This record gives sequence, structure tokens and C-alpha cells, in this order.
Amino acid sequence: MPSFNVFLKSKLPKTGNSIFSIMSALANEYQAINLSQGFPDFEVSTELISLVNQFMKKGINQYAPMPGILKLRELIAAKAEKRYGIKYHPESEVTITSGGTQAIFTAIAATIREKDEVIIFDPAYDSYSPAVVLAGGIPVHAELKLPDFHIDWNEVKKLINQRTRMIIINTPHNPSGAVLSVKDMQMLEKITAKTDILILSDEVYEHVIYDDQAHCSVARFPKLAERSFIVYSFGKTFHTTGWKIGYCLAPEKLMTEFRKVHQFMVFSANTPIQYAYADFMKDEKNLTGIESFYQEKRNYFIKLISGSGFKILPCYGSYFQLLDFSKLSKEKDLDFAIRITKDFGVASIPVSAFYKNGTDHKLLRFCFAKTNATLEQAAEKLLRITKQ
Ligand code: PMP
Repeated sequence: MPSFNVFLKSKLPKTGNSIFSIMSALANEYQAINLSQGFPDFEVSTELISLVNQFMKKGINQYAPMPGILKLRELIAAKAEKRYGIKYHPESEVTITSGGTQAIFTAIAATIREKDEVIIFDPAYDSYSPAVVLAGGIPVHAELKLPDFHIDWNEVKKLINQRTRMIIINTPHNPSGAVLSVKDMQMLEKITAKTDILILSDEVYEHVIYDDQAHCSVARFPKLAERSFIVYSFGKTFHTTGWKIGYCLAPEKLMTEFRKVHQFMVFSANTPIQYAYADFMKDEKNLTGIESFYQEKRNYFIKLISGSGFKILPCYGSYFQLLDFSKLSKEKDLDFAIRITKDFGVASIPVSAFYKNGTDHKLLRFCFAKTNATLEQAAEKLLRITKQ
């Protein structure tokens, strides 16, 4: 190992290995069923795979245009208009990114300055806060209110001041499975009116929403859309999380700034996969049925584990199910998650990991984007856990 004697002050001193890597490594070590990290374990559409292959064979292997291939941007703009009734210009208001995470990082890097405050709702997806800190900003954390993980808008009002630059929302929500309502959007509209606050709306689970609810995108609300970056992920929509392609929608002025960073961060995203998604998206049927597919998984998982010692929390969207283990153990959620991985063979994520303050509500997050066989094996193990 080379020696290293240079003085280096970490820019993220409190950041260690992410809980997702830790729990996945533990799952591997103990050969546990891994319901911790959020990725499907079933096959990707063979049509989509052969499209990528065909484009590679055709020689589509060099850099794409910086904002992404136009054909895909046009289809995305048409989809936004159809679903949310809003026109984004494919030339100037749609950018293809290397996953939703890059879009989030880019939007923050492009707009947040030293000491700008950014409101983040905990429990939160773990990339928001480090992105704000690296930009010199200050994450201001507000906790979602249990039992249904709703936003307390009066509390948000009190957090807003001259330095507030951005509010980050996420619907459907990881890890809670909560969704924002029209009322929430109206409150957000009210609170941000007559301010210069930007909104970063993480909507990567737009198609993973249940019980015939309409996804409440900020794009449906013109007064919100005019100040918003909206982030999506093909990984979530087409079960291809490892391909790392997503996109961002924003009004031209915001998108111009976004692209200034995007071009130096990645320049452009994977070319043959963009062509393949464009061909795949042209066929409407490939964008339908995602909701019902995951709803069946959710219902099946719930059915399998009913009768266990866990309390099942409602899940309205995303492919995560929260389980309350307070009747089974008084352990910290991290300790309990580690123990059931080692002793019972099922890995999950302790929800305290999504809180800045490590708030522990005795909840574990389980990903049900898995084959029925995986869910059955996991449930059989979870049913064996009894009170300690
Ligand atoms: N936002 C949320 C809420 C997520 O759960 C994820 C993926 N875990 C992302 C963004 C990132 O998406 P991608 O994999 O496309 O980077």
C-alpha cells in the first residue's frame, strides 16, 4: 500500500461508508436475503437489452450531445405534457443525466452558494445533505411527522428566512412510502410565493405509486414548476438501476445554469442506452402497468408477513415497506437490523440512517422490488423472529 503523508482535511468529515454498502456487505457475509438496497432482483426487459446491444453494434458508442440525444428529450417532453399538462422545451429545458443522483448533485452545485440554506425533510435520501455541504450551503433539517410522515408546513414557514435558497421535496418518498398531496403542493406554493426560493423535486418514483393515486408532480403546478428542478430516473422506471440514466426538467433559465455544471461534471450520459430508452419509450405499453406490477408486489409482501411480530406501516408509493419492530425488541434499529441479518438471514435498512440526528422510531425499511420467490424466502425468515 503506498504511504500517504499529505495533510488533507476532509470536506465531508462526518460521512462514512453509506448504510446501503454496510448492510449489503453484511448480507453477503451472512448470505442473507438482501432487502436493504433499493434495486430489483428480477430480469430487465429482453427487448430493452437487445435495443442497447443493437445500438452498440451499429456503432453508437461515442459521446452523446451534452444535454442528451434530442430524440429522447423530445419523448420526455411529450411524456411530461401528457402526464402533467406542462410544456418543457426539449432543446433547452430537458437534460439527460447519469442517474437521478447526478441530477440532484448538479442542480445543487449549480445554484447553492456559501451559507445558503437548504430545507431537507428527514428521513431523507442520503445524497441531498452532502451535496449541499460540498456546495458550501447549510442543510436545514425538518422532520416529517409520524405516523404518516407528513410535512408540518407551519414548521417549514418558521424555518424560512433571507438565506433560504432551496427546498428539497421527494414524492413518492424514500424511505417512508408517503406521497405528497395537492394540499401539500398548495402549501408549498403559498410559502414560496414572493420569494426566490428554488425547489428541487425528487420524483424518481413517479411510476411507483399505488391505489390509483395520481402522482402529484410539481410540474402540475405552474407557480411551482417555474422555480423547480424536477428529477427522474430511468433506473426506477425500467428496473435498470445499474445503468444510471436519469433526467432533469427545469425552466430554461434554471436549466442553463444546470447545464453549465453538467457539462463539466459528466459532459454527457451513456449514448447507446439513451438511444435504447428512446426506442423503448416510443411504445406506450412500456410505460404502462408499472404501478400495478409493484402494487402486486407490495400486496404480496404484506400478505406474506402479516402474522409476524412486525407492525406494517402504510406504503402509498416507492418500493419500500416500513416495518415497526417495537413489539419485538427494544434494541436500537441499527443493532436490530444487524442482528436479524446475522441470525435470521434478512437484511434491511434501519430508518435512523435517514435522519441527521439519528432519530430512532424502531423502524426498518425493506425493499420489495424482488421476485416472489425472494419475498417468500424473506417472509418465512421474518415470521420466525419473536420477542427477545
Ligand atoms: N432519489 C431517491 C429518493 C432515490 O431513492 C434514488 C435511488 N435510490 C435516487 C434519487 C437516485 O436515482 P439514480 O439511481 O437514478 O441515481
